[in-house]
Amino acid sequence: MKVGLSIGGGVGALDDIDPRHLAEDGFSSVFVACHERDMLWHAPRAADFARASQAAGLQVYVVPLGYGRVIDPDPSIESLYVREHPHNCQIDNRGRRCTKACPNNPSFLEWFSSNMRTLAWLLECQGFLWDEPSFYSARGGWGCRCEYCERLYYAEHECELPVDLSDSVVRFRRSSMTMFLLAAAAAIQSVDRRLSSVVMPSSVLTTREAGLGLDELNALAGSSAVDQVSAYASWHTGGPSMETAIGTTYEAVSEATSRQDKDCILWISGSPAPSDRLVDALRVAHVAGVEHLVVAGYQSLVASPAYAKIRAPLAQVIEQLR
Ligand SMILES: [Zn+2]
Repeated sequence: MKVGLSIGGGVGALDDIDPRHLAEDGFSSVFVACHERDMLWHAPRAADFARASQAAGLQVYVVPLGYGRVIDPDPSIESLYVREHPHNCQIDNRGRRCTKACPNNPSFLEWFSSNMRTLAWLLECQGFLWDEPSFYSARGGWGCRCEYCERLYYAEHECELPVDLSDSVVRFRRSSMTMFLLAAAAAIQSVDRRLSSVVMPSSVLTTREAGLGLDELNALAGSSAVDQVSAYASWHTGGPSMETAIGTTYEAVSEATSRQDKDCILWISGSPAPSDRLVDALRVAHVAGVEHLVVAGYQSLVASPAYAKIRAPLAQVIEQLR
C-alpha cells in the first residue's frame, strides 16, 4: 500500500516543506493544492516544489482549486474568475447568478482548459485531481439555467429546460459534468498523455444534487474522462466506525473501478491525536485491500507539534505495509 499526503494551504505552505523529509517518513505521493490566485503570481514556486518532490521520489498530483469553482470542495475558496466574469456563472432555478462558473459556458471552458494546460506544462506531475466537481446546489435550489444550458438542453430534448429538477434535468447535469471532466482531462493530456485524470466525487452531495456523486460510481468509473477515482472515507462519533467507513467506501469504489481496470485512491483525514487512531486506520485500510491511501493532510498531521510523537511509529507502519 502506498501512503500519500495532501498539502493544502497554498504556495506559502510549500516553502516550509522539504519533500525529502516526507519521503523519509514513508510517504510516496503528495497531492498539492494549487489555488487559482497563487498560480497567477507564484506558479514557479509550486513548480519548484513539484520538481523537488519528484526528485525525492514522491509522485505529485496537482489539485487545482478556485478556477471558476466548478471544482469546489470548499465554498470559501475564492476564484478571481468568478469575481471578474459573473456573466459566465451559473443561474439557479430562481434566476439568480451563483458564485460558480457554468461548465457549459464555452468561454469559461476555454479559459479553464487553457489554465489547466499551463499548469500541466509548469508542474512536473503524475496527474491532476478534480476535487468535488459540482453544479450549484442548495435546499430547493439548483443550477444551471443559463442561456447555454437552456440551448444545450433544447438541442438534446426539443423542449425547454424544466424549472423543476426532473429526472431528465438530473441526467442532463450529469452528462454536462462528464463533458466538463472530458475537457479537463483532454487539456492536461494534450500536454502529456500519460497524465492521470483523477476524480473525487463529493462525499456529501448526491448525483441528483451535484451532477456527480458517490452514488453513481459505475458511470463515473466507466467514463473516459476518468483514469482513477478517489473517495473520502469519513467517520465520526455516533456514526459508522472507522473500520466500517474504510471498508464500505473502499469496497464500493474498488468494485466500480476494477470492473473498468482502473485504480482507486482512498482518502482519510489524519492528525496525531490518539483519538484519530491514524496508525490503526492505515492497518485497517491495508487489510481492506487499499493500494493507495491519502492522508489529509499536511497541516493537521505533519505540521502539528504533536507529529514528533507519532512520526516514528507512523513511518514504521507505512514501511511494514508497503
Ligand atoms: Zn449554465
